[in-house]
Amino acid sequence: MVDRQLRRRGVTDEATLEAMLQVPRHRFVSGINARFAYADKALPTADGQTISQPYMVALMTELLGVERGYRVLEIGTGSGYQTAILAHIGADVVSVERSTPLAAAAEQRLESLGCSEQVRIVVGDGTRGRQEEAPYDRILVTAAAPRVPAAYREQLVDGGRIVIPLGDRDVQRLTVLDRHGEQWTRTQSTACRFVPLVGVDGWQGPSRANSERRKPASSSTVDDVGPDTR
Ligand code: SAH
Repeated sequence: MVDRQLRRRGVTDEATLEAMLQVPRHRFVSGINARFAYADKALPTADGQTISQPYMVALMTELLGVERGYRVLEIGTGSGYQTAILAHIGADVVSVERSTPLAAAAEQRLESLGCSEQVRIVVGDGTRGRQEEAPYDRILVTAAAPRVPAAYREQLVDGGRIVIPLGDRDVQRLTVLDRHGEQWTRTQSTACRFVPLVGVDGWQGPSRANSERRKPASSSTVDDVGPDTR
């Protein structure tokens, strides 16, 4: 996975690649899908959500620029795989998930992998950020947002960075925001497709029925998923 999918597609950050080598992705993928754990695919989890494509996890981690001891707020714990990668790099992670069963399952996995000291999983609406442990050096959003929730700007340190998929419900662009005092710079990366960020400062309702869609949102690059075929 690391050589064929990540290095070949241009991921160069050694800490990211080492974490992707060490964290057992199959432990985050349940049942029949475990055999696809190292394929370059997003895969379904419980609750109709997804574990992101490995390339997307690596790219987001690299873009985030995490160093040992950084305080990271992650929104959308999902399976906890991205959380484990951040913890492996040495970050202290607060991860917010709106689904109670997903949060509980992720917490258990992370504990069994020995990451629980560095990780705190919180159930709630991550569009409000998480004031209690703020400010954060980095904020990573792994669900698709219509705009940057105001709380993230308020909870980020000066010199900090936010990585967030911004766009509509069908397709987004991975976006990097850097804070320099009261100035912000915005850089756009690849087109991508994530499940919606649902909350007070996100999308207002759950996803449109997946049955309407031939390609459900799946935390992938768009070139992996193919064009929107609705
Ligand atoms: N990073 C995950 C994949 C996340 S999928 C992994 O590696 O497995 C997106 C997740 O965001 C879903 O689990 C969904 O329940 C969650 N989510 C959506 N809106 C949210 C919100 N407002 N607050 C917290 N979590 C949210």
